[in-house]
Amino acid sequence: MSEDFYEVLGVSRDASEDEIKKAYRKKAAEYHPDVSDDPNAEEKFKQVEKAKEVLTDEEKRQAYDQMGHDRFEQAEKRGGFDGQGPGGGAGGFGGGGMGGMGGGGGFEDIFEQFFGGGRGGGGRGGGQRRNQPRQGRNLRTSMEITLEDAYNGVEKEFTITRPETCSECGGAGHPDDAEVSTCRECDGTGQTTRVQQTPFGRVQQRSTCPRCGGEGETADKTCGTCGGDGIEDKQVTLTVEVPAGIRTGQTLRMDGEGAPGENRGPNGDLLIDIEIADHDTFERDGDDLHYNHAISFPQAVFGDTVEIPTLDGTKKMDIPAGTQSGEQFRLRGEGMPRLRGRRSGHLFVTVQVVTPDSLNKDQREALEAFAEAGGEEVDVSEGFFEKIKNSF
Ligand SMILES: [Zn+2]
Ligand SMILES: [Zn+2]
Repeated sequence: MSEDFYEVLGVSRDASEDEIKKAYRKKAAEYHPDVSDDPNAEEKFKQVEKAKEVLTDEEKRQAYDQMGHDRFEQAEKRGGFDGQGPGGGAGGFGGGGMGGMGGGGGFEDIFEQFFGGGRGGGGRGGGQRRNQPRQGRNLRTSMEITLEDAYNGVEKEFTITRPETCSECGGAGHPDDAEVSTCRECDGTGQTTRVQQTPFGRVQQRSTCPRCGGEGETADKTCGTCGGDGIEDKQVTLTVEVPAGIRTGQTLRMDGEGAPGENRGPNGDLLIDIEIADHDTFERDGDDLHYNHAISFPQAVFGDTVEIPTLDGTKKMDIPAGTQSGEQFRLRGEGMPRLRGRRSGHLFVTVQVVTPDSLNKDQREALEAFAEAGGEEVDVSEGFFEKIKNSF
């Protein structure tokens, strides 16, 4: 590809501004690095941008025509046309995001500061910014799961409402038959330029065109479904893999399930805050579980083997003779699985000795005998059970 700006755009030297812009849009679309297979697309795209920038600016085009390509570029490198050429006094002009300032190395920082990217070669050219792919927003939702789900891990289906590319207009914001024209405000660049005075001279500051929102085009009709922004809210049902061991307050991330990106940019992500519902039987403490198990007075006295519920079926546990109410036992590894690891927490079983609140005749006699055998004077008619209770 030639470097001559007219040849770059494929227009004649007396082409009108409209013809130049038309040619520019065609070439820009052809060499857009996001779509082109050409390995030199980015370089060519920059040339196209530069050519358009110079040839659509009356002063610059005049200078270019008079000086020719090489001298024009040299003049530009020297820092614009201040007092030298036909564009004299114009101050800040330059291409590809460069301000019309001196070419000294110390100015890089200032360019960065004002344009948020390298000059020329570093970043993409100014006009390209309007089509720069941008990632969509991250979205956030919450999900309540059971302790069983957190123990086993679960594939969970859920429904959310999220912004998606409009199904009516495909994101264009206008119907297919709408008349689309180049934005008058920004001449199709999607950017408006403001010249700012800095201690180093004048620089151009660019911002998104308020009229077209950076699209570079406006349409005479607006999509009725999305109102022109190309986005509509839709209900979608998704399935998320909840890993075993997850805790309340942890967040799952589903890549690309957030809001749609702009200009073919990637979607944002969907963040899912996990909350685990309270459980009827177990209380969770980190990776450990706690459980209260009721035993009878004789079980506490003589010892027994009892069945303890766990999240993985019932397990046998030995209660030693002489166990006190409130004593705690540990079932190793019967707690929650660790999120990323092979080991599990433990299940702590606190034993509660339960005092009977009614007795049959035989039980009553046996307990009276038990009390007498211990040398206790028990007034059975009142307070006996209170006394038993108090002994625990
Ligand atoms: Zn639409
Ligand atoms: Zn505009």
